[in-house]
Formats: sequence, C-alpha cells, structure tokens
Amino acid sequence: MSYADLQAILQTELQSIRDQSLYKEEHVLQSPQGREITIDGKKLLNFCSNNYLGLSGTGSLRQASDEALQTWGFGLASVRFICGTQGIHKELETATASFLGMEDAVLYSSCFMANVGLFQTFFTDEDAIISDELNHASIIDAVRLTKSERLIYQHMDMADLETKLQSVSGKRLKVIATDGVFSMDGHIAPLAEICDLADKYGALVMVDDAHGVGVLGTNSKGTPEQTGTIDRIDFLTGTYGKALGGAGGAYTATKKEAAEFLRQRSRTYLFSNALDTGIAGAALFALDYIPKHPELRENLYANTQFFRQEMKKAGFTVSESEHPITPVMFAEESIAVSTAKAMFDEGIFVVGFSFPVVPKGKARIRVQISAAHTKDDITLLVEKFAAIASPKA
Ligand SMILES: *Cc1c(COP(=O)(O)O)cnc(C)c1O
Repeated sequence: MSYADLQAILQTELQSIRDQSLYKEEHVLQSPQGREITIDGKKLLNFCSNNYLGLSGTGSLRQASDEALQTWGFGLASVRFICGTQGIHKELETATASFLGMEDAVLYSSCFMANVGLFQTFFTDEDAIISDELNHASIIDAVRLTKSERLIYQHMDMADLETKLQSVSGKRLKVIATDGVFSMDGHIAPLAEICDLADKYGALVMVDDAHGVGVLGTNSKGTPEQTGTIDRIDFLTGTYGKALGGAGGAYTATKKEAAEFLRQRSRTYLFSNALDTGIAGAALFALDYIPKHPELRENLYANTQFFRQEMKKAGFTVSESEHPITPVMFAEESIAVSTAKAMFDEGIFVVGFSFPVVPKGKARIRVQISAAHTKDDITLLVEKFAAIASPKA
C-alpha cells in the first residue's frame, strides 16, 4: 500500500461528492465578519453566520482581546495543569458559571472538544446514553467514544424518549443528551419535558446549547433559561464561537464535583493546550457586555419576528420557532440551491441545504438573523426572496 492507493480512493470519493452536488466550496472573505462582508470584491449582506448578537468582528471585542494579550501575552505552550493556567482562565470559568447560573465551568478549545471530553469521562460500559437523533455531530462522535449503551430517540419525541428510558435496564447511570437548539430548523428542545422524564426514570440531563447561549432567555443564558430548567440541567456545554464573540473556545458548565472530576480526567482538557488568552479576554468582555445591553437581544427578536412575518405575507413557508435560525422551505432541492446562488448575485449571502444534509423533500435556505441587521436589510432580503423564488406551493 502506498499513497497512490489512497489517492485513487480519494479521487473516486471526491468525484462522487462532486457528482452529487455536495462539494463544499469555501467562500473567502476579504473583510472582517459582520452584517456586511466582502467576497470576490463584492459587498454582500450576510445572513448565514452564527453572529446572532452582532458582536463578531467588532472593535470592542478586538480591543478586549488586545488588552488581554497585552497583559497575559500570546501563547502558553502548556496544558492547563502544567503551567497553562492564568488568572484570566479562572476568571472566565467563574464568569461563565455565574452567567449561566451553574456551579462551575471548565474551559475547552471548542465545544466539539467539550462534548468529546464529557461523555467518556463520566460514562462507562455500566451506563446508558439516550440521544436525540438530530443531535450535533460532536455529540454523536463523543457518544461513540464511550463504551456505554447507546439509544437514539426520534427528534424531540417525548413518547419515544420515554420508551427508550423504559428499555434501559441494569445500568448504573442513564443520561439524556440533547442540543438546546437544533441548527437545521431552529427547533428549541423541550427541556422541561425532558427533565420531567429524567426525574421519572432517574436520568441525568446533558444539553449542548451552542446555538442557544446568548440568544434565548430573558438574560441570554440560553435554552435552560427560556425553558425554566437551569436548576435541572446536570451538564451544559456551549461555545464562545457563536453569539458570545465568534472566535472559538468553549465550556462545560456543571456541578462542583463534576467540574472537579473533569479537571482530573477529561482527556480533551488534560491533553490539549489552554484556551488562548486573547479569546478568554474577548469572552469575558462578551459575558459582561451582553447582560448590560438587552437591546441586542431585543433587536435580534424584533428582526427575527419581522423577517418571519414578512416572508409569510409573501407566501413562503418558514418554521414557527422563535430562534433566529429561520429555514425557508422549498419543494424542489434544485430551487433551494439555485435561489441561494441567485441571491448571492443580488448581494445577499444565504446558503441552501439539500439532501443528505437535510431529509429528502425538506430542502431549504437557512437564514440566520442577527441583531446587527437593520429593518431595511430584512426588507431587502424578503424582496429578493420574492423576486427570485416563487413560494413553495
Ligand atoms: C457549533 C456547534 C458545536 C461546535 O462548536 P465549536 O466551539 O465550534 O466546536 C457544537 N455543538 C453544537 C450543537 C453546535 O451547534
């Protein structure tokens, strides 16, 4: 076997990806992230980032990051437990736990790593993990790395979750794992019902709130706040890489002993470098700034509502969720994709998703609204949709 053998395999695979129109072309931005971005020398209104509160790319975040770098320097060349823990890491862990209303928080380089470092630390072959079928790839992979029994319940289907909980027997621990907000539809997980079932069957609850934190809840604490379940969640993972600034970095917020145990045993924490100081500084800024600026969330909600209302008036089918992820549904896969392309030519950046990323017949353009958008931006977006695509019959 040599690279030539692998090369032949890869060439076939890549061709097959192209043949299915699934090849991902990366758009190269010539500007910072924001409401308006530049690609190929062309200015576009951006409706496909996770920059829900409009903080990414702003001068204030950059300044907070710069100040942290001035104080703490760039690069630690160490994991946390050897010589990679600075005051700013402890400060961010405390601020994150306090922002979320959890006892403690442990930092990770990404939410993917937080999820991977969670399940294998707590759950063994004596345990069972019950996971929503539409959970994020990082939860799926994290669960695969354990030796626990795995059960997959139908998306947000509480009857099926209950059946799965009933079917587990003789296990030491059971844990229900769910996204707080599901990224393809903007569905908000029914955490109160999930926690009721967890109580009934003696299960723990793990929520990955990457798309919820900063967005949902009166104080932007996320899906647990929105659903009144903060005190009932055992493990809450999330990222600083979306609404909370957008660069990266993440956390697992949990109870005191669980956090202590993660610092002892979580492999993606122990054997991976400390979170960059510049990111920690920006995340601290965001956690302080967001509660003091409720107008960000108010704008985000007003924009989201306005967009949904205007799209419905124009005859389009949009989902009913309150979350700024707003899929616009199309009957034909090819129309979703060609519409996104035509929108790009008209100065609007949105992305079309078709099978197998979403089920057959559920092709969509996923619009993501931000607090940074103006009412005029959204009016223009709806006008372009109406001019380019005929609504799904
Ligand atoms: C985006 C996302 C992640 C990955 O977050 P990173 O910090 O970029 O690794 C994990 N889980 C969910 C549910 C996400 O939406």
